[in-house]
Amino acid sequence: MKSINNIFAELGTPQKVIITTHQKPDGDAMGSTLGLYHFLSQFNHEVTVISPTNWASFLNWMPGTNNVIDYEKDTLKSNKLIEEAAWIFCLDFNTMSRTKKMEETLLNASATKILIDHHQQPQTEVFHFGISDTGKSSTCEMVYDFIISSGHHNKINLSVAECLYAGVMTDTGSFRFPSTTASVHLMIADLMKLGLKHTPVHQALFDNFSENRLRFIGNVLQNRMEVFFEYNTALISIPQSDLIKYEIKTGDTEGLVNYPLGIEGIKLAAIIIDRGEERKCSFRSKGEFDVNTFARKYFEGGGHYNAAGGQSKEPLESVVQHFKKALIENKNDLSTYKF
Ligand code: 5GP
Ligand code: MN
Repeated sequence: MKSINNIFAELGTPQKVIITTHQKPDGDAMGSTLGLYHFLSQFNHEVTVISPTNWASFLNWMPGTNNVIDYEKDTLKSNKLIEEAAWIFCLDFNTMSRTKKMEETLLNASATKILIDHHQQPQTEVFHFGISDTGKSSTCEMVYDFIISSGHHNKINLSVAECLYAGVMTDTGSFRFPSTTASVHLMIADLMKLGLKHTPVHQALFDNFSENRLRFIGNVLQNRMEVFFEYNTALISIPQSDLIKYEIKTGDTEGLVNYPLGIEGIKLAAIIIDRGEERKCSFRSKGEFDVNTFARKYFEGGGHYNAAGGQSKEPLESVVQHFKKALIENKNDLSTYKF
């Protein structure tokens, strides 16, 4: 993978461009793809955003979501667009397997593939150009850097700014994680100077849920959470019947894993959700516990030092047991806790 700087000179030549991201895109995935979409569209490129799957409805306020194609819904059309593309931008994921059913079409496409991502251990051999920086708060911050270093600050319009703000804000836990550097704050200051209003973005993302979702959270915290104080760990495990009962949709469970981290002394929080076709796991840690390595070792996953995910095809109860065994194996690292 060569430096992304090599494509700067060609930005002005109109091309067929695809932008894609990981399955079940979150705020950073959707924000970065749409931020880049609004930037590249200004050069008269023919730009299409394809998401591997559907996404949470609380992201629909982002300008451009109406034009995003859901690969699972429009597979034939998507495959044709991918085959015809000159450039494919891959944002906010490290390995092609994160695009699930799109993986094969992407790997076989003749397009120039460009990576912009902040996850560990990227699959650099499948990308022609790109930038991978695990020190970055978010892919949205990296898209901002890309726009600035390619010399096009003047093309950051309000749509670009809103999308990029949403991703930086969500991926930094509203600017609280250690990845929130001075550069992040300077970027946000710049977006605000360009006219960004941040309050409506927070409201659109956090104050737009159904009553059911709040009751679901109440049920989960009351009935589905176990705390293991000897391991400074809390686990939430959710059976599929809960998702059905409370009519839980894509995105409704996002952020739930963070609740147990609010308990004094908790160093590791985990959630295992039975989504039917698979058991989806999320891990979050405070301080010195590497959930990226943990997710890789035990749950076919990965991510970052303090936030990672994985999955399993085993039944929920087996995944819970597997997690408990993993706790025992990691007792030394988990049982010490310091601020
Ligand atoms: P989440 O728990 O919110 O799904 O994901 C947390 C972080 O871990 C995100 O940065 C996400 O991209 C990454 N992640 C989640 N699931 C997986 C997975 O199955 N494999 C890999 N490599 N990364 C994941
Ligand atoms: Mn991200």
